[in-house]
This record gives sequence, structure tokens and C-alpha cells, in this order.
Amino acid sequence: MPNSWQSQLVDLLQIRSTQVSSFLENRVLNLFLKPNCPLCNRTAQQVFCQYCQRQIQDCKLVQPDRYWQGDLPLFAWGKYQGSVKQSIGKLKYDGYRSIATLYGEWLANSWQKSMLLGITTNKVVVVPIPLHPDKMASRGFNQAELIARSFCQATGAKLDLSLQRTRSTVAQFGLSKSARQENVAGAFTLINSQLQPDTTVLLIDDIYTTGATVRSAASVIRSIDVNVCGVAVIATGRDN
Ligand SMILES: [Zn+2]
Repeated sequence: MPNSWQSQLVDLLQIRSTQVSSFLENRVLNLFLKPNCPLCNRTAQQVFCQYCQRQIQDCKLVQPDRYWQGDLPLFAWGKYQGSVKQSIGKLKYDGYRSIATLYGEWLANSWQKSMLLGITTNKVVVVPIPLHPDKMASRGFNQAELIARSFCQATGAKLDLSLQRTRSTVAQFGLSKSARQENVAGAFTLINSQLQPDTTVLLIDDIYTTGATVRSAASVIRSIDVNVCGVAVIATGRDN
């Protein structure tokens, strides 16, 4: 029989060893456990669960460059509906930044597969549509910038953050076309821009709705004789 101090020492060592092993177990488990799907809370594969990822992939446009025409050509990964709409909401309003990274990779993948563009991506400078500083302060991040960063990492394109928003605009929804254009006119400016006149800029945003915001941003960049080839987005509500 161990005496009192010996028994206390054995107890102490056992407690320590249990604590150490449970600490290690947690570390090991954390390495393998993935976070749950932000849309349905089931176990996630990458960011979403298999089921939600399939729902999202169903919204992918067969021809992402189908709107690549006109004054400001549009490249869209998918349609702004269903699970895509829900996931962009989760990114913006619940702060799931990993959604932006994943979408940036998917957008890059579609962009690189598109044969119609004829643009060498490593010569393209990517400019995300900025958020107003007030919104940036409350949200803590700009989803367009996160998508653009991931897009640049996947394609080798350069990122430029010199486009800034100068004033808040009211929500575009429900405004007439002329009111929409007026609403965003003068909303952007370039600060300490390194953009050279021979560069080609690709604007990146999360959603394309009316196009008034991106047209206003493009006109500011074009005013310094920089070519804006178009805008690439995750999703668009356009269906014609
Ligand atoms: Zn899910």
C-alpha cells in the first residue's frame, strides 16, 4: 500500500496524464473535424456539404461568357437564385469568408476555361468594387475584395485596391434607371493608383444586378485612359 503522499502523487500524475491526453485528443480531432455547412449545418466537405454544393453547382451558368458583349461586358459564374443567393447572404451578413474564397476559385476556374475572351489573365489587373468605409467598418471585410484575392491567387492576375468609394449610396432596388445612374455617379475615386495606361482592368464584384454601380466604377478608371475589359461576378439576376 502506498503511503499518503505517494498516493497523492499517483493521483496527481493520473490527472495530469488525462489532461494531456484529452488536450492532444482535441488537437488531433480539430485537425480532422471540418466545420459544418453554413447553409444547412450538416458536415461540410470543403465549405458546403455535398448536398448544398450540388444545389449551388446547379445554378452555375453553362456559358459564363454569354453576356460578354457591349460597352461593359459581363462574365458571371452563376445565376443569382436559390442556394447561390442564400450563400452570398451567409457570406455578407454572417461573415462566412471561406465562401468568398471558394467562389473566387470557381470564378477563376470558369474564367480560365472560357475560350472566347482572348485575354491573357496574367496581364490583367483585377480591381474589386469597393464598399463604402462605413459599411466596411460595420461588416469588417469587403466580399468583392475577398473574391478578387482568391481569383488572383488562382489565376496569377494582379490585384489593385486603388479604387475607393467616396460616398454612400442608397440601395439601388426600386429606383428608376436614371435615378440609379444618378445614385452611383461620382461614388468612386482612385487613390494612389498605380494603374498604367497600357493595363487592362477586370472589375470583380459579388453580384451584378442593374450594372449601374460597375458602370460608374468603370468610367472612373477609363477616365485615366486605362482599359476596362469587363466585370466578373459570382452571380447575376440577368436572364436574357
Ligand atoms: Zn449544406
